[in-house]
Amino acid sequence: MSEELKQESGFGSSLELLDALGIGPVWVRRELAVEEVVAQEAPQALAAAEPEAAPAPAQRPAVRAPVETVPDEALAAAAPAPAQRPAPTPAPAMAPPAARPPERRTAPVEDEGGPPSWLDEMDFASSMEPVLIPDDDNDEEAPVQADPMVAKIAAMDWAQLKETVSDCRRCGLCNGRKNTVFGVGDEKAKWLFIGEGPGRNEDIQGEPFVGPAGKLLDNMLMAMGLKRGDNAYIGNIVKCRPTDDNGRDRPPSPQEVASCLPYLQRQIALIQPTVLVALGKTAAISLLGMDPSTPVSRLRGTVHRYQDLPLVVTYHPAYLLRTLNDKSKTWADLCLAMSTYQRQPG
Ligand code: SF4
Repeated sequence: MSEELKQESGFGSSLELLDALGIGPVWVRRELAVEEVVAQEAPQALAAAEPEAAPAPAQRPAVRAPVETVPDEALAAAAPAPAQRPAPTPAPAMAPPAARPPERRTAPVEDEGGPPSWLDEMDFASSMEPVLIPDDDNDEEAPVQADPMVAKIAAMDWAQLKETVSDCRRCGLCNGRKNTVFGVGDEKAKWLFIGEGPGRNEDIQGEPFVGPAGKLLDNMLMAMGLKRGDNAYIGNIVKCRPTDDNGRDRPPSPQEVASCLPYLQRQIALIQPTVLVALGKTAAISLLGMDPSTPVSRLRGTVHRYQDLPLVVTYHPAYLLRTLNDKSKTWADLCLAMSTYQRQPG
């Protein structure tokens, strides 16, 4: 990998960070022509009956029909693509959300084949964060109509949005929070990763995805040639920590999601990312308006649409910490996201 490419992606500095953490795998970045492999593979039925969290609340639909379904095997096989492959010509799959500089960062992959080593090496079973389990009993409809604040939020710039979130009391989650967790990263990022909501560590630090799950997400980003704050933005469906009566993390209710989602929608509009990655079930069904009973296994392997943007669904890093066998599936999802990114015009 050239020094120029290292500087562009920040990949070299990410390795140093992981080395400092004592968890960094050895990587060799190379060009990946994933879409060539994907194009050669026939779509297959998605695998069924994977371990899933309980259903999460449904949200306002913002969905278009899925545009692509790719089997895990094809995507995993695409990961170790030879570095000498010529870069594919992007197909005109969709119009860009707005005029953006034609920057394009290629997707580095593992050198030896198969998923990256963090899939095997990352084991935080002894320090797992709780997986947020949706509340089956909470099936109330989200209030989505005639909220004058929604229009105001939709017109805010970054400074106004951050200030408004920091003082927000649109839902009851404001009562238990230590800090709002607005989001972090490159405000002109091509990649937007969206989780569910802050946990205990995030609530304390005011930043999304800290602690073991955050380290795993950082490794996932590094495997993609990204890093926090460099061409990647990380946000959540809700900005305040949801907890149950015992102070434990829980998924946000439909009303809480409906109250907070306009902030994320404005963040998306301001960032104008190329690809969205939904981390976990709550993020996916909230953005796609899916039935709460829809398992992540049925959402993976397909390029969905959120408004005009491609959206790929994968598991939440906290889930992966306790379900190590699904890390390889997550790598397949990230390969799908990278191939989707490479096909976008611009
Ligand atoms: S979760 Fe969102 S809507 Fe609710 S109080 Fe926090 S910032 Fe406001």
